Amino acid sequence: MLVVMQSHATEQQVRAVCQRIESLGLKAHPIPGSLRTAIGITGNKGEIDLGVLESLPGVVECIPVSKPYKLVSRDAKEEDTILRIPTPSGDVIVGGRHVALVAGPCAVETEEQCLAIAERVKKSGARLFRGGAYKPRTSPYSFQGLGESGLKILSKVRAKHGFGIVTEAIDNESLELVEEYSDVIQIGARNMQNFSLLKRAGRAKKPVLLKRGMSATLDEFLMAAEYLLSEGNYNVMLCERGVRTFSDFSRNTLDLAVVPAVKKRSHLPIFVDPSHGTGKRHKVLPLSRAAVAVGADGLLIEVHHEPEKALSDGIQSILPEEFADLADEMRQIAAVLHRTIN
Ligand code: PEP
Ligand code: MN
Repeated sequence: MLVVMQSHATEQQVRAVCQRIESLGLKAHPIPGSLRTAIGITGNKGEIDLGVLESLPGVVECIPVSKPYKLVSRDAKEEDTILRIPTPSGDVIVGGRHVALVAGPCAVETEEQCLAIAERVKKSGARLFRGGAYKPRTSPYSFQGLGESGLKILSKVRAKHGFGIVTEAIDNESLELVEEYSDVIQIGARNMQNFSLLKRAGRAKKPVLLKRGMSATLDEFLMAAEYLLSEGNYNVMLCERGVRTFSDFSRNTLDLAVVPAVKKRSHLPIFVDPSHGTGKRHKVLPLSRAAVAVGADGLLIEVHHEPEKALSDGIQSILPEEFADLADEMRQIAAVLHRTIN
């Protein structure tokens, strides 16, 4: 259910409607838009008496939301969500006309490794740095990440180069630390339906980058995002990273058609990760081109200066000089679409 407020409704009127909703034992989610505020209602198991709400001052109408996801849907907010991610070098804006580049290694390995990569991707214009300190690996014998000492390395990268840091939390325990050290909390494909982690991330004070599960349908993907918003975190970015199909020539099948499908249904920005989406270095540039062309709001790219020595995902990591070319091309493609890269 959605309560649509008049364009000139006052803050007090919005607050009064929220209080009325809460007094009915429901949860109110005010969603400010450029023209008007809408208030999403969750927690309703049965019918709500609409008359009570519709008669409150400042209310235009109450409309039922038929989609299973409510707060992420365009019904709740017509215009695109534009996120401002605070970083030491100023806000990075994501969505609308802005396309963000996130670059860095799959995993944080050493300080030297991160600083070497950071220096070079910064020269190419990236303002968000990725790197996993906690790695969800298929094998328990593979490198599992450096944990908190990895987060400390990321903090040095942040301090030295002014990057915003994007790094993954794999459970509630790591999320506490990731929230403290990072600028964006990444929830990985394997955790897209870890509902307790989603609820915790929904209460976090940092934006969340939510990756699509490798066999998640679009509805499941959007419902996972709904968990975050329903807990109060509206700073959510989605990320398509490839799904499992019968196709056997690449690690995953990058589902670029999901980008316009998300945009039709949701106001949230959506990134594309062509590194995990293809699993091969030579495919990263062509699929990045396609991702920006199809309307992605950001790219998540694995970059390593010595990929042959990487502790994870060296095969799909591009070299810093390849990233420089990629960033150049993305600027040109974005410009055709009247967008800019930041
Ligand atoms: C990652 O981005 O480091 C990662 C593990 O990706 P995914 O969760 O998409 O596999
Ligand atoms: Mn990886």
